[in-house]
Amino acid sequence: MKHIEHVEEIFSLLKKDLTKYRQPIVSRPKKEYTDTPFTTLISCLLSLRTKDKVTEQASLQLLQKYDTPEKILRLSEQKIISLIYPVGFYKTKAKRIRQISQTLIEKYNGSVPEDFNELLTLNGVGRKTANIVMVYGFKKHGYIPIDVHCHRIPNRLGWINTKTPEETENELKKIIPEHYWDDFNDLFVTFGQTICVPISPFCSRCPIELFCKKILVTKHR
Ligand code: SF4
Repeated sequence: MKHIEHVEEIFSLLKKDLTKYRQPIVSRPKKEYTDTPFTTLISCLLSLRTKDKVTEQASLQLLQKYDTPEKILRLSEQKIISLIYPVGFYKTKAKRIRQISQTLIEKYNGSVPEDFNELLTLNGVGRKTANIVMVYGFKKHGYIPIDVHCHRIPNRLGWINTKTPEETENELKKIIPEHYWDDFNDLFVTFGQTICVPISPFCSRCPIELFCKKILVTKHR
């Protein structure tokens, strides 16, 4: 089986370096609202195609008061829009949040199903969101949520050569020791937002430059 050279050193350097940055709200251990699988699910839906700062503000406005499917259903779609604006696709998301709350009450007694494949049956929930709910909502091991950063960076490092997030998820599971899976998403999202950014990454202040093949990196700072 292929393995990543210096994997321990790489994870330890990233962990140490990234403590100075603010973590995304979805994976942050301490939140200003009740941390449950439901609030994780809703916050993750809000984060799709939305900057972290905006996601954080929308999550706080909605979830500090309305943190269960029952409470959400007391809100009109218009009210949800006013609480989550300006997240991307706020109208669609407001509709989805109500639909999902309704489904959870009708099918799952108001709880979020603790099953990856069941999560995928919820309207608007894809692999990334389902993985996030399993890792950060249920604190389960054995999942790696892949977003754009988690897909881009391992390809740049030369660990994998993949075209889709799903392929990345499968390949990473073969080469990253399982005890790093829980930390992977949080570390690489923070790293991708701050140093290994999509266009012109900050290689000159990268803690793991020594181990990076910089695949397809044509411009860096
Ligand atoms: S050296 Fe540059 S491309 Fe490689 S991981 Fe660091 S920031 Fe990203």
